[in-house]
Amino acid sequence: MLDLTGLQLKRSELTQVNDLTNAVQTGSISRGEWELRVKEIAESALHRQRKSQRWNGIRDALIRFLPDRLLPKFLQLCSRSIYQQRLKACHSCMHSRVTPGVQIDICSLCGCAIKLKAKLKWASCPDKEYTETKGTSRWIE
Ligand code: SF4
Repeated sequence: MLDLTGLQLKRSELTQVNDLTNAVQTGSISRGEWELRVKEIAESALHRQRKSQRWNGIRDALIRFLPDRLLPKFLQLCSRSIYQQRLKACHSCMHSRVTPGVQIDICSLCGCAIKLKAKLKWASCPDKEYTETKGTSRWIE
């Protein structure tokens, strides 16, 4: 006898099992055929369940890892003087744009809000062309 306990069957699979059970009771299929087909449904559900458990494990590990390791690093802010230096560079930069309506300064190269991005310690100016030509970043000059 097949044991389907603990298996999370989809509604369509459950309907199939019920139909097969009715078919075996009315004698339109044999007990052996019933077992074979229900076993296929159970194996498919088990495979799906294991796959989903694997992904849940990866997701849980990421959820644990991200806040502990990455969030504090992401939120590290630069010093006030570096922030002022960055803002000064952005305000005189040709890539700086003011978004109409909301009046937020945006860097047109990366699309970031300048006042926010310039505060983040790890952030950098995305103008690679300038850096390559001048040998230094706009933010560092
Ligand atoms: S981040 Fe760099 S490229 Fe963007 S506006 Fe500021 S100085 Fe210009």
